[in-house]
Amino acid sequence: MPIGFGCLNRARWAWGLMVAVALGLPWPAPADGWGLEAHVLINRAACTTVPGPLRRFFMRHQAFIGEHGKDPDTVFTVREGEAERMRHWIDLDELDRFPFRNIPRNYEKALAKYGRERLKEAGLLPWRIAELYARLVQAMRESDWKRVPLFAAHLGHYVADGHQPLHTTTNYDGQLTGNQGIHKRFENEMIRRHLGQYQDLAAFTQPAQRTADPVGFTFDFMIDSYVWVDNLLRADTLARHGVHGYHDAYYAALYVFAGKLAKLSMAQAATDLGSLWYSAWIEAGQPKVP
Ligand SMILES: [Zn+2]
Repeated sequence: MPIGFGCLNRARWAWGLMVAVALGLPWPAPADGWGLEAHVLINRAACTTVPGPLRRFFMRHQAFIGEHGKDPDTVFTVREGEAERMRHWIDLDELDRFPFRNIPRNYEKALAKYGRERLKEAGLLPWRIAELYARLVQAMRESDWKRVPLFAAHLGHYVADGHQPLHTTTNYDGQLTGNQGIHKRFENEMIRRHLGQYQDLAAFTQPAQRTADPVGFTFDFMIDSYVWVDNLLRADTLARHGVHGYHDAYYAALYVFAGKLAKLSMAQAATDLGSLWYSAWIEAGQPKVP
């Protein structure tokens, strides 16, 4: 999957590029994912899904957790370049056929089966989620609550990416079906133009549930996300019918066909993120929440 950058961080990206060029530094493009606004909304909504004392803690840090949901697309990608970018997706259909039962959920086993290069090409998203989940469990187990909001926020970024259907397929930009460019049109521009419609995301979430198998849980939601790929491509094809270029008429039509899909995917991301936070706390031994 190639990489672009979110609409609203374009100015910052361009500024960084100018500085990098002036200093003769290499300048990688940030990894894409949901637009930055969507990441903030998903992380914020997830704070409302966790129960009891955890909820009070997460609501107290809601603004921080929302804001730092952007870091992997901004800070990490700039800092780590290519090594970071491949952590934002997994092309499930590059590795197996639907319903993807033959992809080993365990990283070492997947590595042994596909080899490092093929796995990097396909993407490392589920194992990045597992890594951050483990960090969150550790911080909670050590009652190191100062670090919890940041780890929780970063975990949220990747969980959200796993709910963007085009982050789960080789046809990540519609390039194989004549829908070239749909990736950004869907996750950035369509949402940016209808941002007001996405502010009530929390109302579409469900209460967090405990999972004892975070990696299996992650694969499950990514496979659910993959199921929407064809609908999304079809929405793009329908939206382009009878309009010229990607302007107001196209985006109004795309929103009719795919606006709800985006909202439900984002709400599911928030619910699943809350479930991982809650599960981490249980796995950490339910330490006293400050
Ligand atoms: Zn991302």
